[in-house]
Amino acid sequence: MAFTTTSKIAGRRAGAGVAARRPAAVVRAAIALKDPPYALDALEPHMCKETLEVHWGKHHRAYVDNMNKQIAGTDLDGKSLEQVVVATWNGGAPTPAFNNAAQVWNHTFFWESMKPGGGGLPSGPLAAAIDASFGSYDAFVTEFKAAGATQFGSGWAWLVADKAGKLTISKTPNAVNPVVEGKTPILTVDVWEHAYYIDARNRRPDYLTTFVDKLVDWEAVGKRFAAATA
Ligand code: ZN
Repeated sequence: MAFTTTSKIAGRRAGAGVAARRPAAVVRAAIALKDPPYALDALEPHMCKETLEVHWGKHHRAYVDNMNKQIAGTDLDGKSLEQVVVATWNGGAPTPAFNNAAQVWNHTFFWESMKPGGGGLPSGPLAAAIDASFGSYDAFVTEFKAAGATQFGSGWAWLVADKAGKLTISKTPNAVNPVVEGKTPILTVDVWEHAYYIDARNRRPDYLTTFVDKLVDWEAVGKRFAAATA
């Protein structure tokens, strides 16, 4: 009997017509903290569990919580994260919620740029685009690591694809990302000190080398490249 009841509820929830019949929501769902696509200790020994516990579990979580407080009850409440990021960027005159919203987006993108057993070499159309855009994979690595190493203070380094498949590298301060300019990033590395201090202390260049050699999820980057150029 209990099983039948549960099944009916599950069926009703899955029904396409249910949401449409609901009255307009007054209290909207906050944007949730997204889990990394692996366990917190899965990137060891290259990025330790403590780094993930602090970086994802505290920093990323705080950005989510603060953003939700800032947008609660405003026109942004109920919008997608991307919409909140672009709206709060406000054409280059950021509103107070921008830093938290963009950091939520950036961190999820960063976690999803890595995988256990990552690194190695890109393949397929992405590898060809890297060669065409930078001359070689090694030249790309040199330029990407230089962008991360020379971002003064906190920020991010990015690999960006245009519709034609041309790749460029950029760096941004604090929470800024290429999305606010309508560009399509396919890879990022966090160069805030909180990203590397537990694993590498003050040695940001060592952290960047580890990121490229051991952590990048080239399959994920390749899928983003395919989507950007589709
Ligand atoms: Zn971070």
